[in-house]
Amino acid sequence: MKYESSVDGSVSEPSNPLLAGVELGGTKCVCILGSGPDDVRDQVSIPTGERNSTLDRINSVLDSWRDTHGGFAALGLASFGPLDLRPGSKTYGHITSTPKRGWKGSDIYGRLGGHRNVPVQINTDVNGAALAEGRWGAARGLDDFAYITVGTGIGVGLIVAGRAVSGCNHTELGHIRIARLSGDTWPGICQFHGDCLEGLASGPAIGARAGMPGGEVPVDSAVWEPVSHALGQLLHTLLLATAPKRILIGGGVVGGRPELLSQVRAQFVKSLNGYLDLDDLTGGVDAYVVPPGLGALAGPSGALALAADAVSVANKRAGC
Ligand code: ZN
Repeated sequence: MKYESSVDGSVSEPSNPLLAGVELGGTKCVCILGSGPDDVRDQVSIPTGERNSTLDRINSVLDSWRDTHGGFAALGLASFGPLDLRPGSKTYGHITSTPKRGWKGSDIYGRLGGHRNVPVQINTDVNGAALAEGRWGAARGLDDFAYITVGTGIGVGLIVAGRAVSGCNHTELGHIRIARLSGDTWPGICQFHGDCLEGLASGPAIGARAGMPGGEVPVDSAVWEPVSHALGQLLHTLLLATAPKRILIGGGVVGGRPELLSQVRAQFVKSLNGYLDLDDLTGGVDAYVVPPGLGALAGPSGALALAADAVSVANKRAGC
């Protein structure tokens, strides 16, 4: 019997309960059943299409696991957002606004979890992935860290004292304003802010600036300097804001491009300009800014991590 160390550092679970998770993404939804990324019993991918039919198909998969695996102890929902995560809100667990046609206002929590007699936890996909990295991946054992994903958008799961930072709602660090690279006046593509971080450094922004699909931009293209500069600014902000003990950075744009990771580290150090002793604080930038550990399983594992947290919360409430 293995004992799991919870990301909140406060609960030891005496078993590895069977968990279900759903990662809802812009192009596909992944339903996953298991106790963790090393013990996946089933995984079903469903294209994200029309809302009702997609949610019905997800529910069918979850229902089928009741018959084939005897059910599951908890359900985690890791969804694209923005989400309403305000406790007590009438629209808790709804997608509040999204450019994805037909999904605005969708009651993800209610439609997928509200009727199930198991603990359910919902959070953003990036917060879920961050919690999974803390539980099973490259931030294992840490209570304070950040997980950045750079892909179609830019998301940051910012974990402080074992919890994803939340106040009036979840954070949106992809849309922060940053100092621009000197001489760079490209307007950016964020429909709300133009040259916010996501407007400058997301995959679509890189593609728009380079005039080709983001995945085809060559290593020596001039677009990488402003991109790495922008991401270095994010790291600067994160370190000074909540002093994470490690920063994980991955996603479709950065993953598989070690030269970009090196450029981001260099821009981060350049931006700090010697203000803090990174070697003393963090063991050096190469150990501080690292790729995630869960690879392609980070997203679905995020849903499982939320389910595991739901179990922890339920056990605490029950006095276990
Ligand atoms: Zn923006």
